[in-house]
Amino acid sequence: MKNTLRELIIILKGEDVKKEYQEIQNIQNLHDMQKFQQKYLEKLILHTYKNVPYYQNIFDRINIVTNEKVNLTKFKEIPLLTKELLRKHQNELTSTDYQTRKWYYNSSGGSTGDPTRFIQDTIYKKWYSATNRYYYQELLQINENNARKIFLWGSPQDLFKGSVGFKNNLKNWFSNIRFLNSFKMTENDMKSYIHSINTYRPDLIRGYAGALYELALFSEKQNTKMFSPKKIVCSAETLTNDMRTKIESVFGTKVYDFYGSRETASIAGECKKGLIHIFSFNNYVERLDQNNNPVTEGEEGRVIITPLHNLSMPLIRYELGDVAILGLKECPCGNHLPTLRKISGRLEEQFIKKDGSIVIGYFFVHLFGVLLNKGFIKQFQVVQEDYDRIRIRAVLNKELPEPEKNEIEQKIRVTMGQDCTILWDYVDTISKTNSGKYLYTQSLVKR
Ligand SMILES: [Zn+2]
Repeated sequence: MKNTLRELIIILKGEDVKKEYQEIQNIQNLHDMQKFQQKYLEKLILHTYKNVPYYQNIFDRINIVTNEKVNLTKFKEIPLLTKELLRKHQNELTSTDYQTRKWYYNSSGGSTGDPTRFIQDTIYKKWYSATNRYYYQELLQINENNARKIFLWGSPQDLFKGSVGFKNNLKNWFSNIRFLNSFKMTENDMKSYIHSINTYRPDLIRGYAGALYELALFSEKQNTKMFSPKKIVCSAETLTNDMRTKIESVFGTKVYDFYGSRETASIAGECKKGLIHIFSFNNYVERLDQNNNPVTEGEEGRVIITPLHNLSMPLIRYELGDVAILGLKECPCGNHLPTLRKISGRLEEQFIKKDGSIVIGYFFVHLFGVLLNKGFIKQFQVVQEDYDRIRIRAVLNKELPEPEKNEIEQKIRVTMGQDCTILWDYVDTISKTNSGKYLYTQSLVKR
């Protein structure tokens, strides 16, 4: 009854993804995939040529479009789009006809520490949902719609509102979802999260890798027994081997790594054989060496992404800032999608409070994403110098008004503690780590 009602509501809201899912299922082999990618890449390039000012000169220069025909052999001549370029050319990268589609704003901190704002179509969101459904159904054999789910991830809205509200509760009940806020991880919170997991008995737990790891450590320390879900899927943060082992042993179930980003949605997900399959029907993914040549199996390459289904702000050959090792062509699990072996480069550090609880780095990405959307900042880095001392380094676009600043400080204090000292450094640039990346959150407090 609940399932039927849920499906009806999804259809009424225009969120049904049957059409997209069917298209994905029609892809049976490499040949089908090439045809699919060709179709959507041509559509994307033609649309971009007609409507996106940033690319018009570039496309003219390389002759990728002639008489309404796209020559995809020229695709690799399109210069890579970096985060820096995306931020600088947000307006020219926006399709002139974006108002003709349903769209919304999204923003990201990403692994470079520079929050970026972009526009996404609701149709792009549908492909994202269809991709996730495919992952759970085909690679993990879980019906995502009907499974009982617990999500342990960040929700700043809930954190500052204090309650999730009746409408959201109803929606969550319909979707079989319980949300646990990974931005709030005090001992009391974690006790109640463990209680929720043990009483709700989910089929699936999805969450930020760092938050799940913290919860596992806490449960072990408290010596509490944890309900064992069928699957745990980690995302958003780097899942190290130590973290994986700990989460698997405390929850008594296998952990799967999932790779996505705000700019490109779902990119790849781990299968039962431990390889990470690329969702090639959602993004066209290239892995390139330092000279922009494709890497071969076993080699490490920079991840370059072209989302296939976002027309309002096409990102073509977008450099995410992550690196990945190319995996086997044919995975023993039998799935035909290409694979990656390892992904690294998602750099963020957790903050630690005096009581031992943690605040995950993603919290600050959400917080500073707001300042970016309002056009105040270009870049930021938040450093925890001591349990109760936070330093914010910010590269400003324009003067930051006091009310905005106060709001940020207030939200940090709700999370980090009321006696937390917050220091602001307005700087011209933010220095990189030895490996050449920005850490957008860094903790100097060691446990
Ligand atoms: Zn596989």
